[in-house]
Amino acid sequence: MNSQTEQIYQGVLKRDPDEKEFQQAVYTFLLSVDKIIDELPDVTYHKVLERMVEPERVIMFRVPWTNDEGKLEINRGFRVEMSSALGPYKGGLRFHPSVNLSIMKFLAFEQVFKNCLTGLPMGGGKGGSDFNPKGKSDLEVMRFCQSFMTELQRHIGEDTDVPAGDIGVGGREIGFLFGQYKRIQNKFVGVLTGKGLDWGGSQIRPEATGYGLVYLSDAILEDRKMTLEGKTCLVSGSGNVAQYTVEKLLDLGAKVVTLSDSSGMIYDENGIDREKLKYIMVLKNVQRGRIKEYAEKYKGVTYIPRNPSEPNPIWNIKADYAFPCATQNEILKEDALNLVRNGIKLVGEGANMPCSQEAEAILTSSGVLLAPAKAANAGGVAVSGLEMSQNSQRVQWTREKVDSELKNIMHNIYKNISEAAETYSTKDNFIDGANIASFIRVARAMIAQGYV
Ligand code: NDP
Repeated sequence: MNSQTEQIYQGVLKRDPDEKEFQQAVYTFLLSVDKIIDELPDVTYHKVLERMVEPERVIMFRVPWTNDEGKLEINRGFRVEMSSALGPYKGGLRFHPSVNLSIMKFLAFEQVFKNCLTGLPMGGGKGGSDFNPKGKSDLEVMRFCQSFMTELQRHIGEDTDVPAGDIGVGGREIGFLFGQYKRIQNKFVGVLTGKGLDWGGSQIRPEATGYGLVYLSDAILEDRKMTLEGKTCLVSGSGNVAQYTVEKLLDLGAKVVTLSDSSGMIYDENGIDREKLKYIMVLKNVQRGRIKEYAEKYKGVTYIPRNPSEPNPIWNIKADYAFPCATQNEILKEDALNLVRNGIKLVGEGANMPCSQEAEAILTSSGVLLAPAKAANAGGVAVSGLEMSQNSQRVQWTREKVDSELKNIMHNIYKNISEAAETYSTKDNFIDGANIASFIRVARAMIAQGYV
């Protein structure tokens, strides 16, 4: 890195020495930006870069709630408002025991550039809580969401900050959060996205991240005369993004052989067909069960429990393409080496930052096409942006219209990141392409607005 970029990174290390995930996200971003910063016409780009790595605002609060036994519980709530350069803060809420400030900041940072790539007028933010919805009753989740929103409502608004879902926050939680916002503010507005279809939601929003991931990956493949048809795919996770990634892969004729959750993975040599996918959706979204039950239900399926100290077995299965859709850093060095050894040709990042920095370097230097999360999973927030537009106009578009808008947005993202890669870095380096294309646009807006 050149001395000024390095100085910015050292500043982050000094200010936030314990925020490993945030440091990782900033580092990868700076590595790309470093390739062009000295060629930009204006030294002010250095100055805004320094400001980009500092959130505009961080809100942390306590969330007191009562469990079903009548005992008092406490969790910590967060909202990181990273950048409003391009529009109101926009980004999901994550409820997971691992949530801390570092994870919130890394997600908010990534979100700024991802939202920029969609071309829609959205800034970036992220929030959540270390609350674990797993094993909680619906009423406990409801009481938690109501308490969480009782504080959050004073910081958000349809023109200020518009949260959505993420890990642990799906349709059920968005409903409870929206209801509480409405009670306190006495306003029925598009303050959250991912709402139910009957009360302000958009068609295709639940499907958008998974569908978008496959649309973008397909565009990359098509450009290289490659195809999804008849190819074997690995998918990790079994939540929202994983489910709709599998659905769209099936639509395009691919065969999916794996899924996972935080307890383990399944390998189904025969492929996960539509009927099996339907079973997973009920298992995960309604019964809130474990992926292990899939292996108990269907013949010829292998279940491997998760062992965090070993390489992830999912990435050691021979396949053509891989779609990590669970969580950050799920592909580490050894996993990347396994993928390369098994001849993987494309990795499409459905999750945010699923590859460690080392893993990314191994994959790209081995010629694996890597569709980075900022671009590849932008479909979710893109349709959230479309939900905001529909809410402002008080209309609801058809499924076909939203799907075709989503496809267009993902194709445009591919065009932008591949052109930026060719212009500023090397062909096919979509990590650089995504970082550089979005950096220039956010920086220009910040400079125009007085370096804020
Ligand atoms: P869900 O909560 O619906 O699903 C998450 C899945 O990942 C579950 O199967 C979960 O297992 C698994 N998982 C979570 N943490 C771990 C872990 N530490 N180790 C192994 N498996 C884990 O979340 P989403 O599908 O919405 O999100 C998945 C990823 O996609 C996240 O990185 C998120 O930030 C990203 N993303 C999501 C978007 C969206 O629109 N929802 C938009 C853009 C990005 P279990 O069932 O055991 O909890």
